[in-house]
Amino acid sequence: MALTNSQFDSIRREYDKRQFESRHRVTDHIEELYKRSPRIREIDRSIAALSVKQAQKLLDGDQSALKSLRSSLRTLTQEKDSLIQSLGFDLDYIEPSYHCPDCKDTGYVNGKKCHCFTQAAIDLVYTQSNLKEVLKRENFDTFDFHLFSDEVVDPVTNLTPHESMQLAVDKCKYYVEHFSAQRRNLFFTGPTGVGKTFLSNCIAKELLDHGFSVIYFTATRLFDVFHNNAYNKSSEASDTYQNIFNCDLLIIDDLGTEVSNAYTNSQLFTCINERLLRNNATIISSNYGIGEISQVYSERTFSRIMKSFDLIKLTGNDLRLIG
Ligand SMILES: [Zn+2]
Repeated sequence: MALTNSQFDSIRREYDKRQFESRHRVTDHIEELYKRSPRIREIDRSIAALSVKQAQKLLDGDQSALKSLRSSLRTLTQEKDSLIQSLGFDLDYIEPSYHCPDCKDTGYVNGKKCHCFTQAAIDLVYTQSNLKEVLKRENFDTFDFHLFSDEVVDPVTNLTPHESMQLAVDKCKYYVEHFSAQRRNLFFTGPTGVGKTFLSNCIAKELLDHGFSVIYFTATRLFDVFHNNAYNKSSEASDTYQNIFNCDLLIIDDLGTEVSNAYTNSQLFTCINERLLRNNATIISSNYGIGEISQVYSERTFSRIMKSFDLIKLTGNDLRLIG
């Protein structure tokens, strides 16, 4: 994911701050223990002195001295541990605690950017706090099948809304489980308020939790970004534009609510096509059925969607009107 220098610096500053706070916390906790048990301070001093000696003996290759030093160190450490516990603390009280244990808040693992760095970049660029709040409420764990009627049968699919939603949820879970091996594309279609956005959010939450980069846009916002990139040559606009092609999953919500014209049509084609070429996944949700897509968008866009997207049709009542 491409970042400007200032964006990169601001993320680095956040990592530095976390490491500083973590070190500070450890120092405070150690000082507190010393105050409550001066013997712990003595032990730490002895451990430090013995460790220096151990390093010297190691260089000298003096095996028998090393053995007795190791045993003294072990005894001291055991005494320290039991003192800490007798004061009512867990042993990790004086260990650093990290936001991300994978990279210990450095942002890197084996010289490569950690998943938390990638997500920090996305959060920064898209200030996705809005989506994040939504994802706390809308995810597979909060999904309520009772909201979907089991009585009315859709004449086309021959399924009740409950059954069609059950099928859709199963497909979405399969999608998430196989995402790292297979980047597929989904197209949710169905009337307003039957759970299309909810399902995209469920997928977004699962993938974000697994460290994939996910970008969410309503169709209207997405075309604004394309427009901005074309007419506003700032590096921010260009970063955002590039990230739309590079993120692991792009969600385009409510396709068809934008003001559609030749320009948006060609941008939609470029976006879908470019992401297919880069083997990145796209999820589209739309009130439009297939027939309408073929009428509103160009033939080539329609054929790309038909060829490369799994269609998931949802039926049922508008959930937003239920209690
Ligand atoms: Zn990390």
